[in-house]
Amino acid sequence: MFLRIDKLPVQLPASPEVDPIAARNVQELLGGRFGEMSTIMNYTFQSFNMRGRDKIKPYYSLISNIAAEEGGHIEIVSAAINSLLNGPRVDFDDTEDPLGAPWKDLPGGTFGGHYIAAAQTALPVDSRGMPWTGDYVFSSGNLILDLLHNFFLENGARTQKLRVYNMTDNPAARTMLGYLFVRGGVHAMAYARALETLTGVKMSEMLPIPNIGNSVFPEARAFMEQGSHLKLYRFSPNDYRDAATIWSGTAPAAYTEGLGGSDQFEFVDAPPAGGDLAHLAGIASSFTPNYAPEEIMEIATKLYKKAKDL
Ligand code: MN
Ligand code: MN
Repeated sequence: MFLRIDKLPVQLPASPEVDPIAARNVQELLGGRFGEMSTIMNYTFQSFNMRGRDKIKPYYSLISNIAAEEGGHIEIVSAAINSLLNGPRVDFDDTEDPLGAPWKDLPGGTFGGHYIAAAQTALPVDSRGMPWTGDYVFSSGNLILDLLHNFFLENGARTQKLRVYNMTDNPAARTMLGYLFVRGGVHAMAYARALETLTGVKMSEMLPIPNIGNSVFPEARAFMEQGSHLKLYRFSPNDYRDAATIWSGTAPAAYTEGLGGSDQFEFVDAPPAGGDLAHLAGIASSFTPNYAPEEIMEIATKLYKKAKDL
């Protein structure tokens, strides 16, 4: 089963402008082959399908627990896309007149689906607009092969995130990217350590791929200075504590990138504190939530008052 926490893993700054090109490129990190929808579904299906899990419990717990964290990554990439498409708007926007074709001059390369299908919000598609597909899921039933695949997936995801970083300086995108460089680094290291315990091979000497450290990027460095690169969070009220047997000990020097402070891996017995969800106001020209938002707000306010009495 899944529980849900109504927070983002970390808070994102609002995009200072409506930036549909960055939004389109960030879609790759959501619904692409190496996107967050792929990481969650790979690890989730591997955990559903794992044979002999009672005998290999710490590996089962590690994969299941990381799968749950990826749910929050889908959410934060979506939030970044929404921020890019929303810009700094905070109030209901009725400035655009449909009769004047307000969207006819959107920049070339805008993904029309963002406007037509989703009212300027995220979609489960890649940067080409192709839908995410279960073909991206690898669940072989062979633990070593699955872990090796997951290591590859995390590094593939990192490579694509680095390339998207090249394509935008928008702070809503770059804060999300900095956070996910660090969290993806934790996952790659966790899978590397799992493989090391099973086979003795020195996977951690292959990190990071590509060969550029996270601390080069100020948005990632800020999270490393908070120790995020050393922490694996537990995303369950009662389960998966034994993943700590894999995520423990001293981090390799290359992994900590000479930042100073602790070099000890830490299994945190709770999810991260998280940040607030962004507020997306209605947009009249998108017909969201409707042409008469006041009526919807009034009905919702009545329901909210009723809910407070429950
Ligand atoms: Mn992720
Ligand atoms: Mn990951």
